[in-house]
Amino acid sequence: MRDRVQTVIIGAGIVGASAVYHLSQLGVTDVLVIDQGPLFETGGSSSHAPGLVFQTNGSRTMCRLAQYTVELYRELEEIDGQPAWYGVGGIEVATTPERIQELKRRQGFARSYGLEGTALLTPEETAEAIPLLDPGAILGAYLVPTDGVANAVRAATALARRAESNGVDFEGGVTVTGFDIRDGRVRGVRTDRGSIECERVLVCAGIWGPRIGRMAGVPIPLAVVQHQLMWTHPLPQLAADAGREIVQPILRHQDLSMYFRQKGDRYAIGNYRHEPILFDPDDLRPYSDGEPMPSIEPFTPEHFVVAEQATEALLPSLAGTGDASTAINGMFSFTPDMGSVVGESAAVRGFWICEAVWVTHGGGMGRMIAEWMAEGEPSMDLAEADANRFYPFMTTPPYVRERGAQQYREVYDIIHPLQQMARPRNIKLSPFHARQGELGAEFFSAAGWERPQWYEANRVLTGGVWEERRGWAARNWDPAVGAEHLATRAAAGLFDITAFAKFDVTGPDSLSYLDRICANRIDRPVGAVVYTAMLTPSGGIRCDLTVTRKDDDRFRIVTGGGSGQHDLAWMRAQIGDRERVTITVRSGSLFALGLWGPRARDVLKAVTDVDVSNDGFPYLTARYLNVGEVDPVWAQRISYAGELGWELYGQIAMGQRAWDLLWEAGREQGLVAVGAGAFDSLRLEKGYRLWGQEIHTEHDPFEAGLGFAVRMDKGGFQGRAALERILERGHSHTLACMTLDDPAAVVMGKEPIWSGDEVVAYVTSAAYGYSVGRAIVYGYLPVDLATEGTAVEVEYFGERLAATVAPEPLWDPKGERLRA
Ligand code: FAD
Repeated sequence: MRDRVQTVIIGAGIVGASAVYHLSQLGVTDVLVIDQGPLFETGGSSSHAPGLVFQTNGSRTMCRLAQYTVELYRELEEIDGQPAWYGVGGIEVATTPERIQELKRRQGFARSYGLEGTALLTPEETAEAIPLLDPGAILGAYLVPTDGVANAVRAATALARRAESNGVDFEGGVTVTGFDIRDGRVRGVRTDRGSIECERVLVCAGIWGPRIGRMAGVPIPLAVVQHQLMWTHPLPQLAADAGREIVQPILRHQDLSMYFRQKGDRYAIGNYRHEPILFDPDDLRPYSDGEPMPSIEPFTPEHFVVAEQATEALLPSLAGTGDASTAINGMFSFTPDMGSVVGESAAVRGFWICEAVWVTHGGGMGRMIAEWMAEGEPSMDLAEADANRFYPFMTTPPYVRERGAQQYREVYDIIHPLQQMARPRNIKLSPFHARQGELGAEFFSAAGWERPQWYEANRVLTGGVWEERRGWAARNWDPAVGAEHLATRAAAGLFDITAFAKFDVTGPDSLSYLDRICANRIDRPVGAVVYTAMLTPSGGIRCDLTVTRKDDDRFRIVTGGGSGQHDLAWMRAQIGDRERVTITVRSGSLFALGLWGPRARDVLKAVTDVDVSNDGFPYLTARYLNVGEVDPVWAQRISYAGELGWELYGQIAMGQRAWDLLWEAGREQGLVAVGAGAFDSLRLEKGYRLWGQEIHTEHDPFEAGLGFAVRMDKGGFQGRAALERILERGHSHTLACMTLDDPAAVVMGKEPIWSGDEVVAYVTSAAYGYSVGRAIVYGYLPVDLATEGTAVEVEYFGERLAATVAPEPLWDPKGERLRA
C-alpha cells in the first residue's frame, strides 16, 4: 500500500466510488481509496441496497442530483455482462385523497426542477404497469418514466474501473484507525496497515461516518437506523421473468411507508413502517468473511407485521410469500434535517466529508464533492448539504438520535412546508418568551430558538378576502398573520429577531478582509450599515448579510439564523494565513428586536435619550443608545419589513426589560407584537430576497436584482472578475416579481411557472401581500418574459392559476417610508 498520496478517500461504497471517478475526471489522480472490506462488495450499505431510484424531491438540489445520477448510471459499462442501471420507471401510489393531492404537488416539483415525462395514472393504468397490484386498493398513482433501479455494487465497480484507468489506486482490507492532524490540518491517515501521509482525506464511510469523524474531532451528525428488507420466494405469476433483473416499474406505497421492486420472479419489500430502531455506530462490527455484513443486523419480525398486512392489500399475490431467510435489518444514515453532510470541515482543514447520501444521489453528490475539492466550488448550490451548517447543539448525541429517528418515521410522510418539529423544542428561549406566551404566541422553531409565527392576541378579523384561506395553504397559518402585517404598515410592530446570527469581526486587518470578501463597499464611515453579498470566486451569492462599521477595525455582521453556521464557516475559511482578523460569535449573548413601522420613531423616542430624528439618526446608520435603563443597546436603522425603524441589539439578560419599556411606550402608538409569518410577507412585498430561496451560489447578484449592492468600482473583491465576464455575456434569466390575479389565491413556493405550454421557472418565494391584496411569487424568468404585464401561470396542485409579472418592489418602490 502507498504511504504517501495527496488525497485519501475512506470508503469504496457508491459514494466513494463516484467521488473518486469524478475527481479523476477533473485531473485529480494522486488518490488512494481504502476500504476495510473487500472491493467492491465491501459490507457497507451499498452492498445490500435494493437500489430504487425515485428522483422526485421537494429539494431542487436533490432532484437535480438524482437526475444527473440516473444519467451517469445509465451510461456505465456492464460488469460481468450485467448493467448497473435499469430504467424501468417509478410509480408512487395513493390510497388517500390527501396523498392524491400530494402526488400532484410532487409532479409540480418534478416540473419545477426539469424532471420530464411524469404522469398521473388511474388505478387501472397503474395495474397495467404492475399486474400484481390490486387497482381496487388505490385511488391513483404518479409515474416517473426515467426512475429505475441501480445495482450499487456494479455502479461502484464500473466507476472505480474508470478511476483506475485514470490512475487512481484502490486498496481493500485496510481499516482507518486515526488521523495525523497538526496546526488544524490533516497531514496523514493511520490505518491497521500503516500510516499514509496525505494533504487531505475524504470521508465516504456511510454509517461509520460519526466514528471516523470523532477520530478527527469533527462531529458528523447522523443517526444509524435499521431498515427492513425482505425478498419473497419465487412467485408463479412472475415465472416468465425469472432470470431477468427487473422489468416492472419500482413501486412506492408512501401512505404505509413501504416500497417494492421486482427481481426476476421475486419481489423485494422495503419497510419503514415501524418504530425506528437506532444503532450505535460504535457497535458496528469489523468486516469479517463468512459473517453477515457489518451493516446488517438480524431481522426483527415483530417490526414487519403491519408491512405484511399492507403488502397483502396492495399486492395480494405476495401474501405469505416472504422468504424469512432473506430478511434483514439493513442500516443507513439519517441526519437531523435529512440533508446530506458534504464539504470541508471548518474545524479541520483538509478533512472533507461526503456522508448520508443515498444510491439515488450518489452519482451527483460524488460529482459535487469532486468539483468542490478540485475546483474550489461545486456547480450546484449545496447549502442544504453543507457539512458546517449545524449549530453545536445539533451535533449532540441526544439531538442526533431524536431527529434521526423522527426523519425515519417521516421519510414518506406528507410534510407541509411550515410543519414544525415536535421534538426537541425549547432549546433556545429568547428573553421575550414569557411575554410572548402571554400574548398567545404560536411558536415555530428557528435555528433552535422558539420564535413566534403569530400571536393569537392579534386575531382581529377585518373581513379581508385573504381571511378565507382554506386547505393546505391555511395550515400553520392564522389570520393574525395578516392583521400583524397590516398593523406594522399602519402603526408599528415589535419583532423578535433574536434568532438572527450575529458576529463581531475585529482586528487590524478586518476592514481589508471584509472589503475583499464582500461585493459592496465596506470602507465607509463608522456607523454605516451596509447590505452586501459575499460571493464565490465564480460570482455566485454565498452569503447575504449586513455589515455595520462599529469602529475603525470593528464590524457587526448580522445574518439569518438558518444561515448562521454556514456563513460563519465561509467567513472563517476566507481569513488569509497572515490576516489579523478575529470573528466572535454573539448570537447567543445578544437579544435582537425589530421595531418597525411608521410610528417606530415615536415609540423609540419615548424610551431613549438619544436623538432619533431623521437628521440625528439617518437611514442605514447605527449607533449605541439606551432603552430606558437598558444600556448599551446597539441600534441599526434598517428594516426587513420595508418600514421606518431599527434593529436593536442588547444583552440577553436585559432583554425583557427592553421589551417591557418598548411595549409600554408603544401602547399609545398602536404597537403590536409581530411574528415571523407577517415578517415573511412584509419582506416579499418590499422585494427583499431570501437566502436559500431567491439567492444562492447558482445566482449572481445582477440576475438576482441586487446589482445596487455591488461596487464594481471599489477595486478587487472575490467574484469580481467573474461578474465582469457575466456582465459582458448578459443573462438569460432574471428574478421577477409576479402576483396572482385572483386576490383570494395563495401558493406556497416551489411551484412550476408556465408560459403557454412550457414550464419556464419555479416559484422561489411565495407569500400573501396583505397590503397589496394579492399573493406574490418570485421566480427566475427568461429575460424576455420578465417584463411588466406578461401573463404567466403558476401550477398549484395540478391547477394553473393566472399570474402577471409586476413591477417591483410592490411596496414603497422609492424607499420613502424607510427614509422617513
Ligand atoms: P457504504 O456503502 O456503507 O460505504 C461506506 C464504506 O466505508 C464501507 O464500504 C465501509 O467498509 C467503509 N469504511 C467504514 N469505516 C471504515 C474504516 N474505518 N476504514 C476503512 N473503510 C471504512 N438508497 C437508495 O437510493 N435507494 C434504495 O432503494 C435504498 N435502499 C436501501 C435499503 C437498505 C436495506 C439500506 C440499508 C439502505 C438503502 N439505501 C437506499 C441507502 C443506501 O444504501 C446508502 O445511503 C448508500 O449505499 C450509502 O453509500 P456510502 O458509499 O455512503 O456508504
